[in-house]
Amino acid sequence: MTETYDPENIFAKILKGEIPSNKVYEDDLTFAFMDIMPRADGHTLVIPKNQARNILDVDSVDLAAVMTSVQKIARGLVQAFDADGILIQQFNEPAAGQIVYHLHFHVIPRHEGVKLKPPASEMADQEILQSNAYRLRAAL
Ligand code: 5GP
Repeated sequence: MTETYDPENIFAKILKGEIPSNKVYEDDLTFAFMDIMPRADGHTLVIPKNQARNILDVDSVDLAAVMTSVQKIARGLVQAFDADGILIQQFNEPAAGQIVYHLHFHVIPRHEGVKLKPPASEMADQEILQSNAYRLRAAL
């Protein structure tokens, strides 16, 4: 596989501030924001700031930083959304369901007996995303 990084992908534009997002966390190497089509309330995406298409090409230092942020967000979601569990998902290349080609980890709060919405099914209300981002930030 010889796929390359497209610097004009949607998450690169979010990182450059060209497209708005509901930010919940950032540090030197990573950025976290609300998924625009959440599978559950609080569904957050964690990405490296440096360019990486997916797990196959990411630098190991960036990957370690992203995983540390994934854990931070997971713990925050348990607290902020009183989650019973946390689902981590990450897709690589179209055959595996990747749609946006900048490495990202889905961090999704789960509650006993509550089904997930289908992936990328319904655009969330901006006000709900904002209030969920606020709730999570307060717990970090
Ligand atoms: P994946 O590549 O992991 O299959 O899916 C990409 C994810 O990015 C989906 O969950 C989708 O809802 C989310 N997404 C796509 N475009 C945007 C966007 O412009 N802003 C945000 N916050 N999320 C997006």
